Amino acid sequence: MKGLDWGAMYDEFHENTYDTFALEKQTHDLMEDDEIMKKAGIYRYVLSGDLRYLSFRTFDKKQKREAYERQKGICVHCQKHFELEEMEADHITPWKEGGTTVADNCQMLCRSCNRIKGAK
Ligand SMILES: [Zn+2]
Repeated sequence: MKGLDWGAMYDEFHENTYDTFALEKQTHDLMEDDEIMKKAGIYRYVLSGDLRYLSFRTFDKKQKREAYERQKGICVHCQKHFELEEMEADHITPWKEGGTTVADNCQMLCRSCNRIKGAK
């Protein structure tokens, strides 16, 4: 894969020993999965086991709509109703604490609540 720094990745992960065949198969299976958009992250995931390499940090439209519908348009923070366009997606388990960018970890906050949360 172009643009992939195998050297740096080797330095990062070389303390572990890997079953090359199993890794290859796992990588191949993940490549086949269209749900995973960030293909370059697959190698890092396979080597590190950290799911965050597989996903983007920001939620896409589909994930936002899913969370919005689950909440019925109610901001989880102030309990008021908003249009989807007036809301912003937020990680329930924060990204920096290992939260992944999946619909299950998405909650919709209105803009002002999201700003308050972000300021903390
Ligand atoms: Zn709110």
